[in-house]
This record gives sequence, C-alpha cells and structure tokens, in this order.
Amino acid sequence: MAIYADNAATTRMSDTAVKAMLPYMQEVFGNPSSLHTAGQTAKEALNSARETVASCLGAEAKEIIFTSGGSEADNQAILTATAIGARKGKKHIISTAFEHHAVLHTLQKLEKQGFEVTYLDVHENGLVTAQEVSDAIREDTCLVTIMYANNEIGTIQPIAEIGAICKEKGVLFHTDAVQAVGHLHIDVKAQNIDMLSLSGHKFHGPKGVGALYVRKGILLMSLIEGGAQERGKRAGTENIPAIMGMAAAMKEACDHLEENHKYVSHLRDTLIGELSKIPHCALNGAKEPRLPGNVNFCFEGIEGESLLLLLDDLGICASSGSACTSGSLDPSHVLLAIGRPHEVAHGSLRLSLCEENTMDEVMEMAKGVADVVALLRRMSPVWRDLQEGKRNYVIQ
Ligand SMILES: *Cc1c(COP(=O)(O)O)cnc(C)c1O
Repeated sequence: MAIYADNAATTRMSDTAVKAMLPYMQEVFGNPSSLHTAGQTAKEALNSARETVASCLGAEAKEIIFTSGGSEADNQAILTATAIGARKGKKHIISTAFEHHAVLHTLQKLEKQGFEVTYLDVHENGLVTAQEVSDAIREDTCLVTIMYANNEIGTIQPIAEIGAICKEKGVLFHTDAVQAVGHLHIDVKAQNIDMLSLSGHKFHGPKGVGALYVRKGILLMSLIEGGAQERGKRAGTENIPAIMGMAAAMKEACDHLEENHKYVSHLRDTLIGELSKIPHCALNGAKEPRLPGNVNFCFEGIEGESLLLLLDDLGICASSGSACTSGSLDPSHVLLAIGRPHEVAHGSLRLSLCEENTMDEVMEMAKGVADVVALLRRMSPVWRDLQEGKRNYVIQ
C-alpha cells in the first residue's frame, strides 16, 4: 500500500464527510432559494453547516460566507479590503514574501492598479514578528494579509499579536488560514482576525468548497454577480453536498484537535529526527512553532524532482515545492524567501503527515528518503564536486 504524505496538497476525505454529503445529493436536493418544503429543508441544512463552521472558529454564523475554496476566499477578502481602502485614499498593503499564490498573484494584480505592497521578510526561520508588522504600518495602510501557517514549510505566524496591532492601528487584518483550520485552535475574536480564509479539502473534507469569515460590520464585496445567495455576497446556487461534507469534516477535526495534534506532531518530530541523520541536509523553517504534520528538508547536491519520482517508485507520495509550482523548473518562492540559494532550494522535499499516518510509515519513509538521497548523490556531478572540494557546501 502506498504511503500518502502529501496532506498539505490535499487530504483523503473522511468517512464522516462522505456520509454527511450523500443525503444532499438525492434525498434533500432542493434549491435553498426555493420556497417549497424541499428548498427550505436544504436551506435549514445550509444554515446548520454555517453554524458548525462558525462555532469551530469562535465566529457567528452570519459572519461565514461559503466559497469555492481557499483561493476564492483569499481573492474576495483582499479585493474587499482594498476596495474599502481605495475609497478612503489608502492604497498600501502589508504582506509577506512567502504567501500562497492565491494571495501573491492577487497582490500583484493590485500593484498594477496603483496599490503599493510591503512584503515583509520572513527571515531564515520562516517567521515575521508583530513588531515588524507594526513598524510597516503607515497612515495609508488599508490591509495586512499574512498567512496563518505556511503550506510549504509549516511555520506558524504570531497571529494574535498581529491581530492586536492591526486592531490598535485600525487596519483590516486578513489571514489565509487554509493550512491551519482543523489543525490548530483558532478563535477569530480573541485573535482579532477581521477576515479568514479556509478550504474543505485541507482537513479531510471535499475539494472545491471553502469559506470566508468576515467580521460583522465589514461590507464584503461580491466577486460574482447574480442571485442573492450568501446574502448577496456570493451569487450562484450553493453547493450543498460539498458544504455539508466540509462542515462535518471541520467539526470532526475540531472535536479531535488536541489528540490529533499530539499524535501527528510526535510522528513529525520522529521523522525530522531520522531525516536529520542524513549528511548535508537542513530542515526548512523553524522547528517551532510549526504545523503538526509538516516536515520539509533541503538535501545538498540533488534535485527535488528526481527525489520525488524515485520516492513515488517506492510507493511514497511526497512533494517538492508546492503542488502549484511543481512542473515548473523555478525553485519554490517560499524557500527563496527564507534565503535558501537556488541550487539548494532545488533539492527540497516536503512530507506532510496527518492522523491517518502511522509510526511504521514514518520509519519506512525515513529509510526510503535516506536510500534515495544516497543513490542520487552517487550519480550527481554536483555532489562529486562538493566531495572533492571543488565547490563549497552550502549546508554544513
Ligand atoms: C491549498 C491552499 C490554498 C488554496 O485553497 P483551494 O481550496 O485549493 O483553492 C490557499 N492557501 C493555502 C495556504 C493553501 O494551502
């Protein structure tokens, strides 16, 4: 059986999520906008899903808008905050250099429209400080958008501290929490988060569904014109089966958050310990605070792509860089942002674990990676040069 260690790219749907979806395909299939009983039954289900999602975040149901996923939620949050800012003549945004492309590409589009973006340095440890955010805030800053946890290297930002500063300075604060929801405890009120994006398929729910939390009082801008679904903030008939599946997966994840966190982080730490024994390798991002399932290493003298393909032959599903950029030869923007030189960033590997992984799998992965790295190094001219002293090691 293959070992699946690419849970940051997507997760397997849980039985709970699949079961929660089924009735809404054939039995309760009404359109929630219809006034008849079949429609109203679907609407009640939709409302209950909204309650569930809200309660897992410490939010109110009316603060949740369902979307097609994390990317759409990121786009909507950023475009809303910047439209509000632009009306007041505020066109400065603060973010980081290693956001997901759903955020980065939206910001690049806004830069072309005359917005100015400060990309905070995430340093070698993959973390920004609240002080750095504070120092970057200006009179004309309309938005701070900083991801909760990074999808490639798993580092967790000081969200509550950043939230407190944004609140004090009166700047909207959005966080892409796609990697955090269902894995870390979140309380949008206590953490002073104004907008938060999440996605169903990153916590064992279905793909193509997500949500945006928007603090009440912030007038959300619709990206899609049409009917009055989602209180006019997102036109289009709601994907009820997917929403039900996501809500069930989210509740399950939140109900088991602590035990999963403990179990998965033990697997992670064991795997990090084993892989650290390989010569000339380095963990990417600080060891703490880190997502419970994230393991990401650079190995000197090899190519991440070859590593992935050979691991796949051994039945191990891993990733190098993010799923969105693999297939291109550019090294990961995240690894470049933490200061890894190009040649080392190319030799990266991410293993992202979940509560379905076992300690046996961890040991098998550790052995598989060590074997494949050794094999690739035997064939690598770069490695030979390093060994013969014709080149200097970047990773000691
Ligand atoms: C997966 C991911 C997204 C995109 O979510 P989709 O639902 O796939 O659109 C956005 N941000 C982060 C951090 C992610 O990991």
